[in-house]
Formats: sequence, C-alpha cells, structure tokens
Amino acid sequence: MTIGAVADHRSREGGAIIYPVYSRRSAGLSIGVNLFPDTKICSFDCPYCEVFPFKTDLGFSLKTMKAALRSAMLEAMEQNIPIRDICFSGNGEPTMSVHFAEALEAAKNIRSELYLEHRGSLQLAETKIVLITNGTGLLDPLMFDLLKNAANNGLYLWLKLDAATEDWYKTMDKSDIAHETLLSRIGEFAASGAPFTIQTMVCMVKGQLPPEKEKTAWVRLVTELAAASAAAHGARGGIRAVQIYGKARPAPEDPLAEAAPAAILEERAEQLRAALAEAALSVPVEVYQ
Ligand code: SF4
Repeated sequence: MTIGAVADHRSREGGAIIYPVYSRRSAGLSIGVNLFPDTKICSFDCPYCEVFPFKTDLGFSLKTMKAALRSAMLEAMEQNIPIRDICFSGNGEPTMSVHFAEALEAAKNIRSELYLEHRGSLQLAETKIVLITNGTGLLDPLMFDLLKNAANNGLYLWLKLDAATEDWYKTMDKSDIAHETLLSRIGEFAASGAPFTIQTMVCMVKGQLPPEKEKTAWVRLVTELAAASAAAHGARGGIRAVQIYGKARPAPEDPLAEAAPAAILEERAEQLRAALAEAALSVPVEVYQ
C-alpha cells in the first residue's frame, strides 16, 4: 500500500484490514482499522452509509492487522507525514466484532512501540486512537465498561447521535434497537463522565430535511448530555466536542439520502452553541460540510 496514493475508503470493500485515508474530521492522515474484511456487519442501516455491498473470503486476522498497521505507520513516518489517528471504523460497527478488544489493545501497543523505537518522532507525537461507533455496543454491560475505561484512558470515542426523536431515528438509522433504550444507555455513559465526542449526520432523506421537532429535540438532548457529562467529569471536560457533518461521499442507496444545504448545518450548530452558552457549558461545536 502507498500512503500518498490512498485517498478514499474503497480498499475496505476489497478486504483491506488497514486502510490509510485523508480524513476531513481528523484533519490529515488517518489509518483506518477495518474489523470486517469479509462483509458489512452493523446494527444500523443508515441510508447515507458509504459501505457498498461486498463479500470476500477474507477473515479478520490479528497478526495481519498488526503487521499492516506497523508497516503503514512506518511508511507515513518515512514520508514525514504526521499520523493524526488510528481509527476503528471500517465496514460496520467495530464493537460488534469479537476481535475488537484485542485489536484495540494491539493498536495501542504498536503506537507505543513505534514511539519508543523512534523517540521524538514528530509524526507520532499527536497520534490518537479513535473509535467511531453508533453506540449500540453500550447496551452490553461488558462493552459499556470496556469503552468507559478505554475512554478514560485516552481512547477518542466518536459516538453517533443522528436523531433525538424516534421518527427521525427510524429514518436516519433504521435500526431494530429501540431508540429509547439506546438513548438511555448513552445518557448513562455521559453521566459516567467518560469523555467522548458526539457526531451527528445532517442530511436529507427522501428529499426531506430533519423536521423542526427533531431539531429542537436534538439541541435539548445534546445540551442535557453535555450537562450530565460536565457534572460528572468536572473541569476536565466530559464531552470533548460535537461534530455536525454532512453527506460528502457516494452511498449505495443514493439518491435516498442527499447532502443538506450548507446553511442548514451552520444553523444547527448555531442553535446548539446558543443553548450550550445559555447553560454555561463549554463544548466546541464543529461543522464538516
Ligand atoms: S452506523 Fe455506520 S456503518 Fe452502520 S450503517 Fe450507519 S453509517 Fe453504515
């Protein structure tokens, strides 16, 4: 693999376990870890999902992951490219993989080993480990504790929160998991004080923008989560940021979901900033068109 030539996520569907990409939200090189090289596995069915249907005979191998991750990181370092993060995302929901815990541990170890071997390396100085999750793993008490401990010990957890109302949840995430149950568990996670980032996709589905009721409920919900997290976490932070992002890449279900006008994302961010300020909460709100 050539770091400089990799510019999209399509290698994931070819069975790649490690796939370097340039990420707008990471603001640079992100080395993706895909725990599902054989087929997509997810508890959501988002209409904007970028994973195209595929099937390979390849299974996940920890040994292959470790070798490929090490090799991709060394290649970036040789080319003086800062590695912004090692990101667990890939073809589905990472916490649904039985390999998730060991793969997370391996990524942390490889980052530490390389940092020791190349002490002072500027390319590794700020390399984060990121998990992009839809949050459904929090329903499992063991996974809840694993994620809480990992987040308290440096994992950057980016948690999807597309909808505050059940109707919009059914439209945006199309999951069999009850919305109320999931929100309640996310609320418990916030109240535990474990740091995390909220990610919300704002787009149109079947030509419809999120309804007014959804916008109001979302601002209220995020503000409540931020308040619960800050109360538990104190001055150190709680919720690290809220990322509002738009549909920027093709999806197999296109044109079911379409990008919303840029002003809609900005408007949502402004509404949230105002609510957070009124509640005296300091949480950055970022927009990625
Ligand atoms: S949660 Fe992520 S992987 Fe799962 S369907 Fe939605 S966008 Fe795709």
